[in-house]
Amino acid sequence: MTTTEKVSKFATPNFGVRDLVLVSGKGCKVYSEDGKEYLDFGAGIAVNCLGHANPRWVKAVAKQAELLSHCCNLYLTKPNAELCEKLVERIGNGKVYVCNSGTEANETLLKVARLYGISVAGKEGKKFKVITAIDGFHGRTLGCVAATAQYKIQKGFAPLLEGFEYATFNDIKSFEKVMSDDVAAVIVEPVQGESGVTPANVKFLKALKSLCKKHKALLFFDEVQCGFGRCGAFLASQKLGVKPDGVSMAKGLGGGFPIGAVWLAKPYGDLLTAGTHGTTFGGNPLACAASLATLEELEKKNLCENAEKMGKRLAEGLEKIAKKYPKIVKLTRGLGLMRAVLFNEPFVNGDVCKKLRDNGLLLIPAGSNALRFLPPLNIKTSDVDKALKIFDKTLGEL
Ligand SMILES: *Cc1c(COP(=O)(O)O)cnc(C)c1O
Repeated sequence: MTTTEKVSKFATPNFGVRDLVLVSGKGCKVYSEDGKEYLDFGAGIAVNCLGHANPRWVKAVAKQAELLSHCCNLYLTKPNAELCEKLVERIGNGKVYVCNSGTEANETLLKVARLYGISVAGKEGKKFKVITAIDGFHGRTLGCVAATAQYKIQKGFAPLLEGFEYATFNDIKSFEKVMSDDVAAVIVEPVQGESGVTPANVKFLKALKSLCKKHKALLFFDEVQCGFGRCGAFLASQKLGVKPDGVSMAKGLGGGFPIGAVWLAKPYGDLLTAGTHGTTFGGNPLACAASLATLEELEKKNLCENAEKMGKRLAEGLEKIAKKYPKIVKLTRGLGLMRAVLFNEPFVNGDVCKKLRDNGLLLIPAGSNALRFLPPLNIKTSDVDKALKIFDKTLGEL
């Protein structure tokens, strides 16, 4: 049986039909079973921020695997302690909880919101609501499905967790309408990823912050996709200049190793008192060593600056292509190295994606008929230009 046949026979079909079998990667390139080379501008959905098989990352993971890969949270490890310290240094005074994925990080924020509500209202069930943005994405666990205001994600999973209110992204009036003293937290992505790369505008975020303050609600940012240098600063919200009370991270955080984390501003981290929350795998030394190596590379190679610089080049190139094919391209948008091209009908993102793949470029579809460009943060000028060339050529063939 081929890999494709095995997957269709033995793996659950939730990821849809897939047929490209990848076997290895180096830098921004990946290689398939049949020996074809692809320029990887999806980076595993913004995960492989150092590209593939980065030497520092590989060495750190191999070294830690030989020493101690897991011991559970009954014991301490140096990589875990150092990662928490590093994240506090990069984000601000506060505390860090380490878990395994983006959805777990957001579940943590949801639980912190409940505990915070009790701390303000004095009892359970009084201040527990959470407001999220329509077309946001927060993950696939049931709590995060309730937080994700998209019908296609929620369909089939009723009854949903109660206590959520939804408002229109970038529209403060819409948030004002559902805000009340019963609200414990607001969670938004500073750049909505899955729905098609929509950056929040600064005025909106600032107004949201004061609205939260007025009602004693916490402002949480889901930076699972837009964080970790992707938008030209360590956090997208740092770039936009708005400080949250808590942040969830994952994707790029491990440079390809599964890990998630939550940073909570002082004093909210202390709401997670002993016994309130936990994880078996979360924060194990192997995952933390991978993340520390990723952070070190990010710092040593100035990858936030590179994301800003290369993002600008990519944006300018895509703008030019958009002007050249106005019938195909509706618009381009994004921040740093998180960018999208939206297509006009009858062009369909999935079909364009397939054609680009045939021409050697991997991109990631997103809602609103978009394709996402999320290359590694250490991408070079020549590879940005190469991707633009393939994109231009492919649109010319449509
Ligand atoms: C990917 C993503 C998640 C979910 O992360 P998983 O690791 O897939 O659970 C949550 N929020 C945002 C913004 C994401 O992009």
